[in-house]
Order: sequence, then structure tokens, then C-alpha cells
Amino acid sequence: ETIGYNLKNTVKKYPNQTALIVVHQNIQFTYQQFWDYTTQIAKGLVAAGIQKGDRVGIWAPNCYEWVVIQYATARIGAILVNLNPAYRSQDLLYVLNQSKMKLIVSALKFKTSNYKQMLTKVKRKAEYLEQTVFLDQDWENLKKQGESISEQELEQIEATIQFDEPINIQYTSGTTGFPKGVTLSHHNVLNNGYFIGERLRYTNQDIVCIPVPFFHCFGMVIGNMACTTHGSTMVIPGDNFNPADALQAVQTYKCTSLYGVPTMFIAELQLPNFADYDLTSLRTGVMAGSPCPIEVMKQVQSKMYMKEVSICYGMTETSPVSTQTKIGAPLDKQVQTVGTIQDHLEIKIIDPVTKQIVPRGVPGELCVRGYSVMLKYWDNPEATAAVIDDARWMHTGDIGVIDEDGYVSITGRIKDIIIRGGENVSPREIEEFLYTHKSVEDVQVIGVPDPKYGEAIMAWIKPIAGCKVTEDDFINFCKDQIAHYKVPKYWKFVDGFPMTISGKVRKVEMREIAVKELG
Ligand code: ATP
Ligand code: MG
Repeated sequence: ETIGYNLKNTVKKYPNQTALIVVHQNIQFTYQQFWDYTTQIAKGLVAAGIQKGDRVGIWAPNCYEWVVIQYATARIGAILVNLNPAYRSQDLLYVLNQSKMKLIVSALKFKTSNYKQMLTKVKRKAEYLEQTVFLDQDWENLKKQGESISEQELEQIEATIQFDEPINIQYTSGTTGFPKGVTLSHHNVLNNGYFIGERLRYTNQDIVCIPVPFFHCFGMVIGNMACTTHGSTMVIPGDNFNPADALQAVQTYKCTSLYGVPTMFIAELQLPNFADYDLTSLRTGVMAGSPCPIEVMKQVQSKMYMKEVSICYGMTETSPVSTQTKIGAPLDKQVQTVGTIQDHLEIKIIDPVTKQIVPRGVPGELCVRGYSVMLKYWDNPEATAAVIDDARWMHTGDIGVIDEDGYVSITGRIKDIIIRGGENVSPREIEEFLYTHKSVEDVQVIGVPDPKYGEAIMAWIKPIAGCKVTEDDFINFCKDQIAHYKVPKYWKFVDGFPMTISGKVRKVEMREIAVKELG
């Protein structure tokens, strides 16, 4: 038995099942064709001198080559390094050197970024980089080069791979700071992908629309690993998120499942011609990555037919999913919580100061232990020791609470908590409240420095297109409904928020902007 993310088992069971449909590249593979392609590229990498443990990067938006290189590296035990498509030359150089990358597969360009130019510019400063493979003739050459390697040679390499060896380095989203190289094993991601798919009841009948980026664990594990472990079909609607393309793909390929961070679902629901799309094939899907507003969950269930939509909670460091709603959970639990702990994992909630477990129902820092916890941060023992303790508990930095039925809610991040005059205020709670205002499309709440209270609350409101709103409307709306100290002092009306490319709001950047504006 070889590991290589164990794609082999699925190929044996469902060789003629469609594995991958990439709409913008107009390409489809069956599982057998996909397997054969990964064989060619795996051999090509071996011929290029890549050995077990070497780091191989992929810098490209979603495309079929991304998934091929993912499994090709896994099959030879090379460590895939996911590069964020939003990187510019300095971010790129940092990751090239931090991971000591030997070979990089790169798109030529994406949107306004010229990857070839940036790579050429930083190449001589990347001490360990030996080869660049652009997604043009280079890629074809890599494939061709593989012909010199025999089946037997490849099988011998595959047989040496151990389940707990590192196979992937994913740099964290950078929502809160400088990216760290989360190092994951076969065991970490293969199992997590499998158990996520189990909770979604995936079979080879499922067709899954994945508009989230592959470089992030949402696309790579919740997306393609949950599918490949169940023989489901992956549908990639575009190289970049676009709400119309996502819904069009659901309609065309009769997808049964759709993924997104909350802002993506909001954008889809807000499309002027939303009602024109036939979404009746949808059954399930995943909303994850950041807090999922209850209203949005309800609309996804009713207007998008995703009765069995699941919220996942997790972080790159836990492969990523730690809790997930189960199909058939009571409706209020489905929309108001992040579900229950994934099978074979442990969670606990501790007091962030005393580190003692708190009673049920009391919020505290959520900690996770089990198979999905990363091996380490790459080449960064201090950062690793700061989050994984001696008993292997991963300290998430998220504030969670477990109710009497075992359902978990995430109420915020420790770093985002606003402390106003000694009172702890959860931005999440205020966001949920303001979200119920009829003119609000999206809302984000942050703390900003305040001479009197230490921190003051600031709300950024994105009104629904065409709605006229004023600060006074909102102050009146809050009156008698939420405690006076929770009413934001500052209001800002915006068209959008600073985002990471994985679709998360960057509160760090919001705070920087606010501090500048408030002087
Ligand atoms: P960085 O660690 O680089 O600052 P990041 O924490 O956003 O960025 P990820 O690993 O992509 O990087 O995201 C994990 C975080 O996203 C979690 O720690 C949590 O704060 C948040 N999150 C994920 N899923 C949910 C969810 N369903 N509800 C609320 N928050 C969520
Ligand atoms: Mg994080």
C-alpha cells in the first residue's frame, strides 16, 4: 500500500468517474486520466532531480495543473509549498527562502501580476531555487522528461513514504500578521479530507463546485481532498471568484454541493439576476473561514436549496477542520453554531490566563488535539512552541464556547476582542446585531484606540446597493436594543472591506486605516 494521499484507491474503484472539470480551461479528467497525468508529472519531477522531502512550490490561481502537482508531489514524498496568488516579489522571495524551495511551478501571470517578471527578478536572491517551471512549454517538457523514469522506479519511491511525513507547507492567510509555514503530513490532510466528506455524506454521485482558492486549505483539503477520498467530482468555475461564474457552474454541471466563505455567498445572493439560476441540484455545501452570519445561513438554506449546508470551523494549523455541523442537526444549531467536534479529535475551552478548563457554557480559548494538528511551523520552533503545548494541544487563539449539547460557537479571536473601559466586547455580537438592520449588506466591527476608554468601537457598514443610510439611523437602531457600551462610537460607510485573497476580512488593516483616518 502506498500513501501519496491515497488517490490510488479511488482510481481503482471509480476509474471512469469524472474527477475534475475546470470550466475556464475547458478541460475534464476521469479519475483514471487524472491518475495517469499525476504519474507523468511525478516522473517528470523525479527526472528533474526532486527527491523525497524536497520542497516544490506552486504559484498559480486555481487550474488543473494545481491539482496535478498536488498529487504528483504527494506520490513522490516531495513537500508541496502553496504560494498565495496575491504575493508580490518580496512575499515570494520570503517564502522561497524560508522553505528552501528547490523547484517552483508558476503561472505566467494572473490578473495584473506578471509572475514571470517577478520570479525572474528575485530568482538570483533565492539561494536554494534550482528550477522554475512555467505553465507553458516548460510544463510540457517536465511531463516529457518523465518518460525516462520507469513505473518500477516510481513505485519504489512511493513505497518509502510514511504516513506521518511532511507533505505540504501552507503559509497562513496572514489575517493577523506575517505568514508562518504550517507543515502538514499525509495523515493530517488525508484524514481530515476524508472525515469532512463523511459529514457531508459525499459519494461518487456528488458534484462539488469549488470557487475557493486551492492555495488555502479550504480549497485544497475541504475541497479537493474531500472529493478525491469519496470519488466525487470537483468543478472549478474559474481562476478567481466570481459569483455569476459560480452559480453558472452549479446550473451547468448540476452540482450537489457549493463552497464559499460567507462573503462569497452574500455576493451570490445579491446578484441582480440571482433568481434566473437553476440551483435546485444543490443539496449541501460548506461555509467556513470566518464567522457565518445567521441571516446568510438561513438564506443559503432557503434560497439556494442547500438544506444540508455545513459550517466548518478550523484553521490551517489543524488541517483545517476541527468542528463541523452534522447533516440533520436541529435547525438552530445548524445556523447558530459551528457544529460539533470532528470524529477522532478532542477540544477543550480554557481560561486564557489560568489555562484551566472552564465550565460548559463559559467562553474561553479553544484548544484542539488529535490527528489533524500540524507537525510544526516550518523551521520556526519558537512559533511552534508558542501554540502547541507539551501535551500536543493546539492553542487556536480563537474564543469558543461549548453548549450543553456539545455544539461549539466561535465568538471571536482573542486579538480582536475589544476592551472598552474594562468591559470585554465581542465584535461578533455587535456584527450579528447590526446585520439584522434591513439596509445592511455586510458589517465589520473593530476596536480603535480611545483616550478615555482604552478602546472605542467602530462599525464599518456596507449598505445594500441603493440604500441611503446615516449614522443617526444606526444610533437609533441600537437604542434600547443593545447596551450603551456596545453601541459603536464611530461609523464608516464603505463599499467593501480589506480582504485576504481567501476572502477573509483583514481587521488588522481596517484598524490601520481607522487609526490614520481618526488621526
Ligand atoms: P493568520 O493565522 O495568518 O493570521 P488566519 O488565522 O485567518 O490567518 P486561517 O488558518 O486561514 O488563517 O484561518 C483560521 C481562522 O479563521 C480561525 O482561527 C478562525 O479565527 C477563523 N475561522 C475559520 N472558520 C471559522 C468559522 N466557521 N467561524 C468563525 N471563525 C472561523
Ligand atoms: Mg491563524
